[in-house]
Amino acid sequence: MNFTDAPSPNFNDRKKPVSLIVLHYTGMESGQAALNRMRDPEAKVSAHYMVEEDGRIFQLVDEEKRAWHAGVSEWAGETDINSISIGIEIVNGGHDFGLPDYPQAQMDAVTSLTKQIMVRRNIPAHRIVGHSDIAPGRKQDPGEKFPWVQMSEAGCAIHPKVMIEAGDTRSGLAAIGYGFSAGETAVIQAFQRRFRPAKVDGNLDDETASLISAVAVLTPKS
Ligand SMILES: [Zn+2]
Repeated sequence: MNFTDAPSPNFNDRKKPVSLIVLHYTGMESGQAALNRMRDPEAKVSAHYMVEEDGRIFQLVDEEKRAWHAGVSEWAGETDINSISIGIEIVNGGHDFGLPDYPQAQMDAVTSLTKQIMVRRNIPAHRIVGHSDIAPGRKQDPGEKFPWVQMSEAGCAIHPKVMIEAGDTRSGLAAIGYGFSAGETAVIQAFQRRFRPAKVDGNLDDETASLISAVAVLTPKS
C-alpha cells in the first residue's frame, strides 16, 4: 500500500501492546482541514492514518507510538484506548455536514488498510470498533452511514447474519465490550448506530434486543 507521509507531533509512548483498531470520521469541511488540525501541536489530537475520499492514505503517526484519537473512552474494560489501539480517521463531514455517503474508492482503501493491520498485528475482527462504540453518549463517529456490513463482508468487523432470542441486555452489551459510564440508553444508542443504523433512538425494541444477543454470541470471550 502507498502511504503519503504527513507527520504529526501529537503522540507519545504506548504503555500497552496494540490490540484494537478504532475507526473515526473527520467531521470537518475537508480532508485538508482535518489534516492541518491533526498536525497542529496546539490541537493535541492525531491518528495513525487518515483516508481521503479518493482513497489516498496519509500516515501521521508511527504505529509503534500512541496517537491521540480516542479521548475519554472504554472498551472491554480497558480505558487507555490510545495505548492499545491504532486510530484511522476517514474523511467525511459527518453529522455536522449532512452525513454524506462514504465513496467506494475510500471504502476500498479503508478495508485494505484495516485488513493489512489486522494480519500484520494479529487483531481479530471483533476488535475493530467505531469511536462511538468506545465513547457512547459523547461520540457519534463514524456514523450511521458507515458501511459496517461491507466491512464485515471483507472480514474487517463482526456483524450478525441471523437473529437469535434476546437474552439479558446489559450482560450482552458488556460481553460485546461496551462500557456503561454514560448510562444504558447511551450504550443502546451506540449499539444501534453500529448494528441497526435505520433507527437510532436508544429504545430497547425487540429487534435491538435480539441483535444484542446475536452480536454477543459472535464476540469471543476474552
Ligand atoms: Zn472520532
